[in-house]
Amino acid sequence: QPVSVWILGDQLLENHPALQAAEREHGREQVHIVMIESDERIHQLPYQRQKLVLLLSAMRHYADELRSSGYEVDYICTSSFADGLKQHLKQRHSTHLYTMAASEYDARTIQEKHLESAIGVPTTLLPNSQFLVEQFNPHPETGSKHYIMENFYRQMRKHFNVLMDGPDEPAGGKWNYDAMNREPLPKKLDFPEKPSYKPDKITNEVIKLVEGMRHGVGNIQNFDLAVTRENANDALERFVNERLREFGPYEDAMSSQESELFHSQLSLYVNIGLLDPMDMIRQAEKAYNDGSVPLNSAEGFIRQILGWREYMYWQYWQLMPDLKTTNTWGGKRAMPLMFWNGETEMNCVSHVSKRVLETGYSNHIERLMIVCNFCLLAGIRPYDVAEWFLACYFDAYDWVVLPNVIGMGLNADGGRIATKPYISSANYINKMSNYCSECHYSPKERTGEKACPYNLLYWDFLAQNEELLRSNPRLGPNVLGLRNISEQERKAIHQQAVAFLDHLKYYEGKAKDETL
Ligand code: FAD
Ligand code: SF4
Repeated sequence: QPVSVWILGDQLLENHPALQAAEREHGREQVHIVMIESDERIHQLPYQRQKLVLLLSAMRHYADELRSSGYEVDYICTSSFADGLKQHLKQRHSTHLYTMAASEYDARTIQEKHLESAIGVPTTLLPNSQFLVEQFNPHPETGSKHYIMENFYRQMRKHFNVLMDGPDEPAGGKWNYDAMNREPLPKKLDFPEKPSYKPDKITNEVIKLVEGMRHGVGNIQNFDLAVTRENANDALERFVNERLREFGPYEDAMSSQESELFHSQLSLYVNIGLLDPMDMIRQAEKAYNDGSVPLNSAEGFIRQILGWREYMYWQYWQLMPDLKTTNTWGGKRAMPLMFWNGETEMNCVSHVSKRVLETGYSNHIERLMIVCNFCLLAGIRPYDVAEWFLACYFDAYDWVVLPNVIGMGLNADGGRIATKPYISSANYINKMSNYCSECHYSPKERTGEKACPYNLLYWDFLAQNEELLRSNPRLGPNVLGLRNISEQERKAIHQQAVAFLDHLKYYEGKAKDETL
């Protein structure tokens, strides 16, 4: 009897568990694969147009890859996933559906609770294989509310035997080399050329399709991302050979020149299954063992994948569904329009948001200390910030945006993910980047016409929340800075901060189905 396997668009795995299970139980000749391009999903947000090209082209290439390995694949473009599945099951007379658990909460809830009744055939849901923490679930110390990333990461290192010197000792004797990884960029430094992959026939067809949609943000020109496993692996190899050596020291740096610096730009591929996280980890480990990269760089990169990426996914599943609506600092305003169009005299915000709208990328520290820092200090509604990320960044999906943006970036989850809010004045941005030297505002001024908005908002935030912040041991030194500010200056800062926020334009429109 024929059976079907439904492969979701962010599950473009080399060995898909649902396909393997169906084949094992029924034999390849009975298995039909279905992949669906759903209009409803494509129009959920005004996505960056190249993000749509990346996803749709990677899905189409994956379908072709399966066909050339001898599978029957139905690739259906229709209004919704439910409609696509019904069409396919009817046409193929399938009696059973196999699928792999989605990484996102809403989709997995549908798979678990409603799919079978909606499509009318029995369904087998295989565990998700895109995350290592699905194979080994590290446990917090008993009674501890906060399971910090560092402890989670050490357990993962031990369990998967990554960068270890025996069962308990980390390679090199230390677990953490962060102290060596906070260098600002020197004035003269050349960056390796970014990998670029010429669009083929399939990608050009998708570009035309997306151009024809009256929907989305940003430009579609010069699309040159990898859309096949082969090219994504090439991008990984080039990162390890050309950038990993310098990855560690400049991990937290920012530059108006470019965002990538020595970062890998691989999140967009691993998040859709074109790269395997353990493969990325082993390649970095091997480069260290071969002596071609220093330990602080290899460990820094491995910490991002085996630590942060897995930890965020793990936290997402601990905190959903409440994570979507939590708002500890009571943000009330919509997303400022400047993030949606890049138009502002704030040089750092202008550069970062224009770049995100054009390229779907900015590095970690820009996401944290420029976008989220501003939004937390300015009282922006957490989910509005999350929607901006989901629409604009190529690597953004619910499971990774909510813990990073609402938890880590905005500290709106009551401190479950990060034990302190990541807030700073212009001082930090000035130290870690060259944005301020070309800005209309001054990073040194706290009040007055030229005062940097980060300064106004930061000092006002500390003053307004002084009592609460004082009780957080990690923020003590910041609050102490208020002692040097007179009551009169506090008032002036407050008035100017309120006036600044009142004059800012906000994107009040509904994000869905808009062309900005
Ligand atoms: P690199 O600096 O080269 O890091 C290597 C890899 O580590 C990345 O490719 C990524 O897979 C992984 N990684 C590192 N940190 C994290 C993390 N905190 N969570 C998950 N994976 C991590 N990452 C996303 O994949 N999608 C997002 O939508 C996203 N939104 C973010 C929003 C905020 C506010 C913050 C602070 C971080 C966010 N991150 C997100 C995490 C991180 O910024 C990106 O993974 C990273 O910038 C991607 O660029 P890269 O591949 O060059 O990363
Ligand atoms: Fe950004 Fe302020 Fe520096 Fe201007 S002065 S670049 S707004 S931090």
